[in-house]
Amino acid sequence: MSTATIAPSPSVTVDNSCSDRPSAPYTNFNQITHEQFQQAADHMKLEREIQLLLRTPYRELIVQIPVRMDNGRLELFYGYRVQHNAVRGPYKGGIRYHHEVDLNEVRSLAALMTWKTALVDVPFGGAKGGITCDPTNMSRNELQSLTRGFTQKIDMGLGIYRDIPAPDVGTNAQVMAWIMDEYGKKHGYTPAIVTGKPVNLGGSLGRDQATGRGVMIVTREACKAFGVDIKNARIAIQGFGNVGSWAARLISNLGAKIVAVSDVKGGIFAEKGLDIDKVLTHVASTGSVVDAPGTQPVSNEELLMLDVDVLIPAALGGSITDKNVDDVKAKLIIEAANSPVTPSADARFLSRGVRVVPDILANAGGVTVSYFEWVQNLQQFRWDLDKVNHELEQRMISAWNAVHFRHTNENISLRLAAYTEAMMKVAEASRQRF
Ligand code: GLU
Repeated sequence: MSTATIAPSPSVTVDNSCSDRPSAPYTNFNQITHEQFQQAADHMKLEREIQLLLRTPYRELIVQIPVRMDNGRLELFYGYRVQHNAVRGPYKGGIRYHHEVDLNEVRSLAALMTWKTALVDVPFGGAKGGITCDPTNMSRNELQSLTRGFTQKIDMGLGIYRDIPAPDVGTNAQVMAWIMDEYGKKHGYTPAIVTGKPVNLGGSLGRDQATGRGVMIVTREACKAFGVDIKNARIAIQGFGNVGSWAARLISNLGAKIVAVSDVKGGIFAEKGLDIDKVLTHVASTGSVVDAPGTQPVSNEELLMLDVDVLIPAALGGSITDKNVDDVKAKLIIEAANSPVTPSADARFLSRGVRVVPDILANAGGVTVSYFEWVQNLQQFRWDLDKVNHELEQRMISAWNAVHFRHTNENISLRLAAYTEAMMKVAEASRQRF
C-alpha cells in the first residue's frame, strides 16, 4: 500500500552569484547540469544573450494530482513538466515516476534533453516530467488514475508540435498508452502526442531497445577509438532495467564479457562473463538479478569498483561521486543513465585519464527512435525494424564521430566536446529566431 505522498511546495533558492544571471530558481541537483552548461559556454565563448536564454527553462508546470487509492483514501501527489527549450523543435522528453523526483531534478533533466536532441540532430527541443511517487508500491488502477490525472493537468502544455512526452525511469509503454488515451478524449485520436507507446497502438518497432542499442553503438565505437578490443573486453553494468538489460544483451552479442550487472536489490558477478539470456530468464521469474544461478553476489557499490575495461552506470543519477571515484578502476565509462557522474568526480576522471562518454550522447538512442516513432505517427506509415535500427545506427555514429573529432581536435573531454557540439546548434537556432 502506498504511503501518503504529499510534496511540500517546491523550495526555491535564488542564486545571484553571477551578475548576468537572471533571478531564476536553482538548487543543488540542477547545479550539475548547470556547471556542465557553463563550462561549455565558457569554452565556446557563448555570448551573454544566448547564455541567458539557454540557462533557464522556458516554462515550468507544477500540478497537484489527487488520487483515490484502492483502500478508499485520497492521496495527493505532485507532478512536474519542465519545458526547457524549443528553438529547434517541439519540447521532448520523458516522464519519471520515482519517490525522489522533485522540480529541481526535472529541471536538470529537461536541459539535458535540449542538448541530447541537438547532439543527435533530431528536430526537437528539451523537456522532462515527473511525479513524486513510488510506482513499485502502487496498483495498476492507482497508476492509471495518477497518469490520467497528470495528463489532464498538463494538457494545456502538450501538443504534437508543442510537447511530446515519453517513458523514463518508472514509466513504460503502458503509461504512455494511458496518456495517449486520456489526451485523445479531449482532442481525438492523436498517437503522435506521446512516444514509447505499445507497438499495437502506434509505437515504433525497436523503441523499447533503442536506448540500450544506442549504448551498445557508442560503447563499440569508443572501444574502437580508444584501443579496447570489444571481443575481449570485461564490462560491468550498474542497473538492469530497460536500458541496462538491453545494453547487456546487445553488447554481449558483440563478444564482450559482461562480468557483472545489478539492480536495486543487489548485483551478480561471474569471472568468465554472465550468460545474459539466463539472467533475463531469472529476472522474469524472480523480479531481480540477485541469486541468478552460477553467479556470485556483488553489491551495487562493489560493482563500480570492479577491475573491468568498461563501466556502464545505467541506474539513477549521482552514483559516482567524490567518495567513490578514486576506487573506480575502469578506464572507460559509458553514461547510460542521466547524470551518473557528479561534476567533481568527472574532473577527477579527467585528471586520471579516464574517458567518460557523456549521457547526452550515450543514452540518446531512446529519443532518436522516439523521433522515428513521431514521424511514423504523423505519416501514418510504419517502418520495419531493420529501417529503425539502420537509421539509429547512422545518427548515433555521426554524433559519436562529431564528438570524438572535437575531443581529439580541441583536446577537451568527451563531455565538453558533446556539450559544445550540441549547444552550438541550439545557440545558432536561437540567434536565427531572436
Ligand atoms: N527518457 C528518455 C531520455 O532521457 C527518452 C526521452 C524521449 O524519448 O523523449 O532520453
